[in-house]
Amino acid sequence: MNRPEFSSLPLKPALIENIASLGYTHLTPIQAESLPHILEGKDVIAQAKTGSGKTAAFGIGLISRLDVGHFKVQALVLCPTRELADQVSKEIRQLARFIPNIKVLSLCGGVPFAPQRDSLLHGAHVIVGTPGRVQEHLQKHSLRLDDLHVLVLDEADRMLDMGFAELITDVISYAPSHRQTLLFSATYPDAIRNLSQSYQFKPVSVSIDTRH
Ligand code: ADP
Ligand code: MG
Repeated sequence: MNRPEFSSLPLKPALIENIASLGYTHLTPIQAESLPHILEGKDVIAQAKTGSGKTAAFGIGLISRLDVGHFKVQALVLCPTRELADQVSKEIRQLARFIPNIKVLSLCGGVPFAPQRDSLLHGAHVIVGTPGRVQEHLQKHSLRLDDLHVLVLDEADRMLDMGFAELITDVISYAPSHRQTLLFSATYPDAIRNLSQSYQFKPVSVSIDTRH
């Protein structure tokens, strides 16, 4: 397969330069299948095995839609565990490091609530977190999603396996209905299809079949 280069995508030159500085030259197969649709603003359901570069697919998508002058939460990524949320926020920070003053905040359980609430008082552009702690901030009004453009459900299959379906439903109830919803998963069981039907609008489905 001929893998396209990042420079072939309709991205800001500074973002392309930064991607190159991270050592990424060509898109991975799942990035090549999903990113053009993501950049068009479509809802996408993307399935590919672990380690295939799914984080950069949604990371580049959400960064390219950010208005940094508008200091409100514009993108929310839900992850199953703190470790995964930390990895995702680290990668998004790296992908966005060419943008001065961008704030990517990680909101996970297992650490004190108050410092997170205080950080939120100062604003953030991107939130990466686990469903339980994000729900808590929404219920206590320390987090608002009125300006959300992009919602990402990362490792959606694992979040469902961990019993987070109701939490996810509640978190999404705080988000505007006019938004882009991206669903990433390593597997594609019926439960993922149902999740997509509940929260996505005319989704484009892309899948990298590794059986061949
Ligand atoms: P997944 O979420 O699919 O399990 P990750 O997003 O964690 O996979 O990516 C796996 C690794 O691949 C990471 O170390 C990431 O930095 C790297 N990576 C992502 N995209 C590219 C690319 N286009 N070229 C080279 N390496 C990449
Ligand atoms: Mg991943």
